[in-house]
Formats: sequence, C-alpha cells, structure tokens
Amino acid sequence: MQEIGRVIKVSGPLIVAEGMRNCKMFDVVRVSEENLIGEIIELRDDKASIQVYEETSGLGTGAKVVSTEAPLSVELGPGIIEGIYDGIQRPLTKLVEAMGDRIGRGVDMPALDHKKLWDFQPRKKVGDSVSAGDILGVVQETKIVEHRIMAPIGVEGKIKSIVGGERTIDDVVCVISTKKGDVKVTMCQKWPVRVGRPFKSKMYPTAPLVTGQRTIDTFFPVAKGGAACIPGPFGSGKTVVQHQLAKWSDADIIVYVGCGERGNEMTDVLNEFPELIDPKTGEPLMKRTVLIANTSDMPVAAREASMYTGITIAEYFRDMGYNVAIMADSSSRWAEALREMSSRLEEMPGDEGYPAYLASRLASYYERAGIVTALGSEDRTGSVTAISAVSPPGGDLSEPVTQSTLRIVKVFWGLSASLAYRRHFPAIDWMQSYSLYVDRLGDWYGKNSDRKWNDNRQQAMTILQEEANLDEIVRLVGVDALSYEDRLTMEAAKSIREDYLQQDAFDDVDTYASLNKQYKMLNLILECYRLSQDALRRGADFDEIIAIPAREAIGRMKFIPESEITKLDEIFEAMKSQLDQLAYVD
Ligand code: ADP
Ligand code: MG
Repeated sequence: MQEIGRVIKVSGPLIVAEGMRNCKMFDVVRVSEENLIGEIIELRDDKASIQVYEETSGLGTGAKVVSTEAPLSVELGPGIIEGIYDGIQRPLTKLVEAMGDRIGRGVDMPALDHKKLWDFQPRKKVGDSVSAGDILGVVQETKIVEHRIMAPIGVEGKIKSIVGGERTIDDVVCVISTKKGDVKVTMCQKWPVRVGRPFKSKMYPTAPLVTGQRTIDTFFPVAKGGAACIPGPFGSGKTVVQHQLAKWSDADIIVYVGCGERGNEMTDVLNEFPELIDPKTGEPLMKRTVLIANTSDMPVAAREASMYTGITIAEYFRDMGYNVAIMADSSSRWAEALREMSSRLEEMPGDEGYPAYLASRLASYYERAGIVTALGSEDRTGSVTAISAVSPPGGDLSEPVTQSTLRIVKVFWGLSASLAYRRHFPAIDWMQSYSLYVDRLGDWYGKNSDRKWNDNRQQAMTILQEEANLDEIVRLVGVDALSYEDRLTMEAAKSIREDYLQQDAFDDVDTYASLNKQYKMLNLILECYRLSQDALRRGADFDEIIAIPAREAIGRMKFIPESEITKLDEIFEAMKSQLDQLAYVD
C-alpha cells in the first residue's frame, strides 16, 4: 500500500513531511492536491526533508505527500535532440504552448513525444547474442544525429524477435530472451540522474576538442573527455565563450545547461541556435543540441537538479559512441542553490556558507566527464567534455566554488576584467590560464596539424612572457631604453595579442578559425618576427621594418574567409620579399 505522509513544515523550496518511514532517500514525491514534484534529500525517523522543484507558495501543513517510489530520472530516447527542457526535463516549449507563459504547477508532461513515429532500422537479427550496450538498431533522429538504440543495461541474451519500421518509443522493437526470461525492449529508457551511467573502461584523453577559438585551441586546449572551467567577473565574457563552444566545437552533441543566469541569455540561445548553420554539416546547430534552461527566475531546487539532468543525457549519447560536450552556465549559481538548500536544512555551514560537501558534489559532477569504451561487444568510444562557467562574486578567485573547481578540472580559462575593459576578447588571460592537457595533446597536434604547431605554440607563449618582463622596464624607464631587438619582441607580442588572440565572436568570419587557418596565422606572425630580426641584424632600419605594408595585411588576416585561405600564403610571400628588400639596402 502506498504510504501517504503529511506536510509539517514549509520553508521556501524545502518542506518537511511526517509519516514517511518507508520511503527511500532520493525518491521522488508528489506534494499536495497540486501534485508538486519534489525529491527526498534527508530522512530522519519518519520525517523526510523534501526539496520541491516548483513554487511552494500557498502550500500549508497537513498537505499530503505521496512517494512515487522511484528516483529522479530522465527519459532517454529519440526526440531528445532539439529538446528544450527545464531542470527536471519537462519540455519547456510544450509547457509554454499548453499553459502560456506562467507554467502551471504539478504538470505531468513527458519529456519525449510518445505518439511520434520513428523509423527503426534493426542492426541485429534474430538469434544474435547481445549484451548491455550493444546497438540493436538505429533511428535517424535529425539530419545530423543517428540515434542508436542500445540493449538496456543489465540485459544479456539472444534476440528472439526484432522488427524495423515506424514505431513509437513505447512500442516493443526487440525481444531478448535472457536467463531470467524474455525482455521487451522499447526505444525509451529511464535513468536516475544522480547515478553515472556505466561503461567498460575510462581512457586517458588524447585528442582536443577543437573549438575554432584561437586562444583555446592554440594555448589552452581542452581534451575530448576533459573538463574545463571559465571563471570570471560579471561581463568578462563567460557566456560568450560557452556559446562559442556550443556553436563551433567539433563535438557531435551539445548539451547546454543555462543554470541560474538571466532568462534573456537563454532566449538569445533559443533565438540564435536554430538559425546558425553548422560549418561541418550545413545543418542548423539545433539539430545536434539539447537545451536545459533553469534561469534565475525559476525554482531554485530544480537548478540543483539541472546539471545532473544534463550530464545524464550527455552520458547517454556518449554510450552511443558520440563525442558530447556539456556547458553549464553557471556552476556558481548551481552551488548557490546547493547552499540555499543546505541552510534550509540547517546543516553546519562550511566556507562562506557553502555546505561542507560542496567540493565532493562538484567532483562527482566532473567525474562524469571522460572518454570511455562503452558497454557492449563492439569496441565503441564516446566522450563527455564538461565545461562550466564559474562566477566568483567580485571576480575573487579565492572563493570556495572556484577553488574547489580548480582542484578538479585540468583546464583553467581565467577571464580578466581588465582585458574585457580594454575590449580584448575573448578576455582569457594568457599569463594566468593553463591547460594540463597540453603535453598529452602535443602528439595529436603534431600529427593532425603542421608539425611545427607545438614549437610555434611554445615560441608564441615565450614572446608573451618576454613582453610581460619588458613591460616592467618600459613602465620604469620608457620604451626608448629598450634595444631594437627588444622592441621587435614587443611588436611581435602585440601582433600575437591583437592579430591572433583577439577574436570577435560577432564577426561572421572571425567567429571561427579552423586549425589550418590558426596555424597559418600564427606562423605568419612568428616568421615575420624572425625575418624582422634577421633584417635588423643585417642593418635595416627599425622604423622601416615595422612599417612594411605586409604588417597591415597581417592585422586584417583574421577576416580572410576559410575559402580564401591561400591569401595568407600571399601575405607571407609579400612579407618575406618586403623584409628582404629592406635588409639589402645600404
Ligand atoms: P559574462 O557571462 O561573463 O557576464 P558575457 O559573456 O555576457 O559576460 O559578455 C559580456 C559582453 O562582452 C558581451 O555582451 C560582448 O559585448 C562582450 N564579449 C565577450 N566576449 C566577446 C567576444 N569573444 N567577442 C566580442 N565581444 C565579446
Ligand atoms: Mg553570463
């Protein structure tokens, strides 16, 4: 018999109910006649503390609480791509269509369309042996995404029947006879969001997530299967960086979690993404994207759930063999939701009021990133790359969320207020940021880009460091005190900063640069530096060296479209001959 508890206390999104002795931690409950959705987060005797994912205004003591006897889960199956969900995977667009802008409470609306027909194409036949994770068949979900229907976790046996054709996600497409009897497989699975999906083995990442953003790809790459964070003060460009990665990175699937930030930023995503075209496939970017929106005006507890909902969806596509990238904007707002629930639970506060388990919660999220061999008899590799914005109050990086995150993730893109103020975008501070993947990814860059990639990267970084040192001298005694060699270094550094690192996200061409273009651009700057040094040594005049017309062309090279990439070679040749001529004049 289902047990019915009663509310004895309401404190914002947290309620306490008694009569809950037989419930389990993390069970989902329905509260009051309105059927509000909540989750048990603490059990003491017969009292349960429940975080409610919806507005609790008007809720009073005595209201009934009924357990669903199941944990918070997501629905996984065809139809999830292009989905726009709230933090607990309710379909936002459908909710808004059905209820208008003020979403009603307690609404049961399935995440996926259960009536839509999908063309299931079997990949196995009767009599085949299959185990969990094996691909039974596929559905062309969008033009870009082939949805692979996998044998459910825990199932092993022989296929008894399998049928292709138009099916809903609730129709049985395959029957597997196992030791424990026949298992009917549909195209829809449920998975609890707080439990990572299993895999065969985790590997060390060896390939970068190519983002088309020069600072990131060249200096601070994140690996496919890695984790990165973007801390920065308000207005420094965290959201723009995340949007750029969602648009241009070479992941197969993007899960974008708008977590506790302003609603209009999510509206931007919703308006912009359907119109953006994926450079690789020529299809709208939405056709590989899942959006989860839990903006600042939505209930705080659902914000806590939203990152888990997102990463579970990411893992599901990883298991199919895809490279998935999940962006969360911002993990600080998520941590604030955690803090609010903790304080309402009257737990002992830790650093700055955050609960003592902040660090372990963050770790358990980022641990779900990785590159894995998926379950099943085929050797399938998939990855989840997790990238999160961090918004430290006042930009102070010593605060707990930033510090805990930095201890976990291997890539730090530190945004600087002063760079943003000088309109150097992306404002990723090259002196402060790091990627611990650089060495490991060196092999990949050596093979997949020009062999000089790694050397150039190192040389450019050295020039920027020298600039920082020389800057000190210039501040003390002025630029005239520098030798012409040093002044050339300063010029080269300026060129790296302005002509290379600065990248306008809002320019149609500059918004994305292929690795080939990146290589040619940086190489051009570095060769210009090297040949300028040669010219200087041969007696050419410093002012004439820095006034060669090719330098102006270098200043505009970022706006050369990929289709006219050979123009970069032309600039290269022009630069060479212009410097050559200088050097031989007496
Ligand atoms: P945050 O999320 O850190 O508060 P935003 O990402 O909203 O900051 O960026 C603030 C503003 O900075 C943007 O509206 C835009 O004008 C500018 N900006 C940030 N990054 C870039 C970029 N790569 N190119 C051009 N402008 C940028
Ligand atoms: Mg932002």
